[in-house]
Amino acid sequence: MRRNIVAGNWKMNKNFAEADDLINSIEETLRQYDTTDVDIIVCPPFPYLELVSDVSEDSNFFVGAQNVAKFDNGAYTGEVSASMLKSMAVDYCIVGHSERRKYFFETNQDIAQKIDLLLQQDITPIMCVGESLEEREAGKHFDVIRKQVEEGIFHLKAEDMQRCIIAYEPVWAIGTGKTATKEQAQEIHAFIRKLIVEKYNDDVAQEVSILYGGSCNPKNAQELFSMEDVDGGLIGGASLKANDFIQIACSFN
Ligand code: PEP
Repeated sequence: MRRNIVAGNWKMNKNFAEADDLINSIEETLRQYDTTDVDIIVCPPFPYLELVSDVSEDSNFFVGAQNVAKFDNGAYTGEVSASMLKSMAVDYCIVGHSERRKYFFETNQDIAQKIDLLLQQDITPIMCVGESLEEREAGKHFDVIRKQVEEGIFHLKAEDMQRCIIAYEPVWAIGTGKTATKEQAQEIHAFIRKLIVEKYNDDVAQEVSILYGGSCNPKNAQELFSMEDVDGGLIGGASLKANDFIQIACSFN
C-alpha cells in the first residue's frame, strides 16, 4: 500500500557543526509528535550520512542520499556507489533531481542505470520528474513527464516498480516560492499513476507513493497532501529548519 512520505533534501547546505545541530533538533522535535502514519526521510550531503544515520538509530526517521553513481565500484574518482550507501545504512536515494539533470547533464538513461544499481542494493529510489516553465507554458508538460517516467523507470519489472517512489517536482516551483496549486499537483500525480496502471496494473500503481516537491512549506503542505494522489512531499528549503520540516511531516489528515 502506498505510504505517506515526507523526505527532506538538504542539497549542498550546512557545514558539519550546522548539520549536527539540525539533525539533533529534528530528533528532538520528532519526540514531541506522533508520526506513525508517515515515513520521514532525511537526505543530507554525503559527508554527513554517518552522522545522520547514527542519530536515526534512536529516532523515527530514515536516511536517504541525494545521488548515486551510475557505475558499480571502481575507478570513478569522486563518485559514491550504491553498495557504499548500503554499507552506511542508507535506505533511500533521490535520483534525477532537476538540479542534477540541469547542472550535471543527467539523462533519463543515466537515471535508469542508477535505479537498477540502487534496487540491487535494496535501496529505495526516489525518482524525480517535472517540467520547466517553458514546457508548461507550451502545453508540453504531460509529454515531458511521460518521457521521463517511461525512459527512467518503466524498464523495471512490476515487482521492482512497486519498490520505487516518484516525486513530481515542477522545475518552476523548486526554490522559487511559487508552489503548484493543489489542482495542478493532483492532475500530474493522477496522470503518473495512470501511466503506471497502463504499463503495469492497478495493484502496482497503488503501491507507488507519488510525492510533490516545489516550495512546499508548513502553510501549504496540508492542502497539497489532502489531494487523492499526493502521498507526501520532497522538501528542499523547508527541510533545513527542524520545526518547519516536522510540521510538514505532520500535515496529513
Ligand atoms: C527540491 O529541491 O527537491 C525542492 C522541492 O526544493 P524546495 O522545497 O526548496 O522548492
